[in-house]
Amino acid sequence: KIAVVGSINMDVVNRVERHPLPGETVSGLETAYIPGGKGANQAVAAARAGAQVLMIGAVGQDPFGGPLVEALGKAGVNTAGVLEKEGTSGMAFITVDAHGENNIILSPGANGRLSAEDMEAGLIGAAGGSGGAGLGGVLLQNEIPWETTAAAVRRARTYGAAVYLNPAPARKVEDEVLALVDVLVVNETEAAAISGLEVASREHAEAAAEWLLGRGVGEVIVTLGAAGVVYASKEGERISAPAFRVEAVDTTAAGDTFIGAYAAARDRGASVQEALRWANAAAAIAVTRPGAQSSIPSADEVNRWLEN
Ligand code: ADP
Repeated sequence: KIAVVGSINMDVVNRVERHPLPGETVSGLETAYIPGGKGANQAVAAARAGAQVLMIGAVGQDPFGGPLVEALGKAGVNTAGVLEKEGTSGMAFITVDAHGENNIILSPGANGRLSAEDMEAGLIGAAGGSGGAGLGGVLLQNEIPWETTAAAVRRARTYGAAVYLNPAPARKVEDEVLALVDVLVVNETEAAAISGLEVASREHAEAAAEWLLGRGVGEVIVTLGAAGVVYASKEGERISAPAFRVEAVDTTAAGDTFIGAYAAARDRGASVQEALRWANAAAAIAVTRPGAQSSIPSADEVNRWLEN
């Protein structure tokens, strides 16, 4: 069983010929509402990968709140831990031009009001009582208040659940928090933000991973887009797992799909090697499709895809 404590957003995506200049109005070509948010995306990815998943988060009392919870439910995520808060839901206003270049305004809404107390109540519920037994992993990102995330790291630890941290959008993470993380998943930007090192190649990523292990992280995964991932554990395991070759259409939620799929695979007892391969496959499929949650494949799809 996996719990996700994190963001739930409605992505409002507008396609335009070109981005407007300040003060200018341009006509949109098409508008789509796509459920997203890193927390919700990772929850959906883990559920589609076959894990039992509980979402702990918040939506607003606006027209998006209901559909966002519904989308999670449809993907098989238990939404008992999703609160409804006064005000707006989290929203990402995304504008994509003809070159595929995007502009994003992220409005935290209810995500910004998810408190440590909300998180505690949700995790206690998710864990099926105050003891917290039976919770295999807790997945955390950086789209809710950091104090709530840091408190969730500590709480998950007391439950004996594996702590997965994906500090995205990038931020510096306190040493005291890093020391409590079992699995840190970062892309190159996030690895650089935490370590202060330059991370622009596989060699750099390997060096950053060593730096992070030195801070007490159990396992580090640096995702490198089309170059796959670098894995390093404090037990001394070092793995380089290549990405699958696909025609990328939209890389939104690639990282989220990877993390959800990896955590689900580990939760069902897969080895690190198997889980990395499986997660790379799930993420590769996701980049061949548009949107966030809409692009995340099911376990059946991943298995069929790997057979071909
Ligand atoms: P983020 O989206 O968080 O920046 P990455 O770009 O590193 O993360 O992508 C995460 C994972 O998604 C990669 O490790 C890989 O498995 C997969 N992926 C991303 N882009 C591609 C691509 N062009 N081709 C194949 N797989 C990809």
